[in-house]
Amino acid sequence: MRAECRQASTLLHPDSGHVLSFDREGRLYTFYDDGVLYKRALDSSLHWRRREDGGPRERGVLSREEARTVYEKVHHFVERGVRELEPDCSARFRQEVLPWTPERLLAEKERFDAVYRPIAILPPDQYFSVVVQATEGCTWNKCTFCSFYQGRPFSVKNPQQLKEHALAVRDFLGKQLLLRKSVFLGDGNALALSRSRLLPIFEAVREVFPGYPIYSFVDLYTGERHDPADWGELRSLGLRRVYVGMETGLDELLAFLNKPGSAAELTAFVESLKAAGVSVGLIVMVGVGGREYAARHAEATIDALARMPLDQDDLVYLSPFIEHPDSQYALDRQQAGLHPMSSEEAEAELQRLALQIRALGTRAARYDIREFIY
Ligand code: SF4
Repeated sequence: MRAECRQASTLLHPDSGHVLSFDREGRLYTFYDDGVLYKRALDSSLHWRRREDGGPRERGVLSREEARTVYEKVHHFVERGVRELEPDCSARFRQEVLPWTPERLLAEKERFDAVYRPIAILPPDQYFSVVVQATEGCTWNKCTFCSFYQGRPFSVKNPQQLKEHALAVRDFLGKQLLLRKSVFLGDGNALALSRSRLLPIFEAVREVFPGYPIYSFVDLYTGERHDPADWGELRSLGLRRVYVGMETGLDELLAFLNKPGSAAELTAFVESLKAAGVSVGLIVMVGVGGREYAARHAEATIDALARMPLDQDDLVYLSPFIEHPDSQYALDRQQAGLHPMSSEEAEAELQRLALQIRALGTRAARYDIREFIY
């Protein structure tokens, strides 16, 4: 039995097949259990993944009862740790970790629901941000492939509500803030608000989370358009990077997805952000449009990216496309006679695109939306 009592986290190594990590509130964060990695989300849902014998990665989310069984196992390890560790570390386990019984951990769901509306998605480099839901939903909500915010009308918190929400988030996270180094302004399109509505939001975030860099999604088709001076002002208030669902550089395919805009508009938008010192994260869907669109989708996307002033501060995320069987996209695809790419084809395409994007002088990374956790 071994432990590491770090400033921002606590680790327990009972034996070679098990590793547990906890935040400084004492709540479980990860549990490696003989080949299965469990990650606890803030609502105490438990996400698992494993890969057996070089096969494909498997993943899923446990039911509440299954999660309880895992939390009981975790609690037994902690009880052992309290008995067997050296006094210094044992005291931290006794004071911080042991009070988190399985019941208390599961009850975090109610605390989470009191603070947050469901959080649909984040960019991978922001899974460890502090989410502040300035808005809820998406201003557009009509892309045929997207189910992130279905049934949730777009709404905006007023400055008072936002301040209360940010304070509640801070209270809920507690000492887990030691692990979280940025603020992500949710949900789908917070930066589409007008400058006059955004400034108090940024001020409130800066007051509650001083010094935290700010990140957010935006689309360029709905809401207020910001000029470089607006972006520069938001930059001075902490905005560091905005993430845009580019999806494809092929306008025809974008229209097929019912997403407004064009590669030329996106290029101008990126120029405007970069001129203000704000970096971008562009998300491209690999495999969307099926085999029939694959070559033109790839070529137009690389062409569009090559025209943008991207550098090493920026990121291009390549996201294997996941078709939801009951989506409008699935219907449209069948009617158009398009054939989905196999996961092997999409993976090979992703690797090809990543190489081409890196050759443009910017960063490319895989973005599997099934791995999202907050
Ligand atoms: S703009 Fe983004 S969040 Fe909104 S519907 Fe389209 S893909 Fe979904």
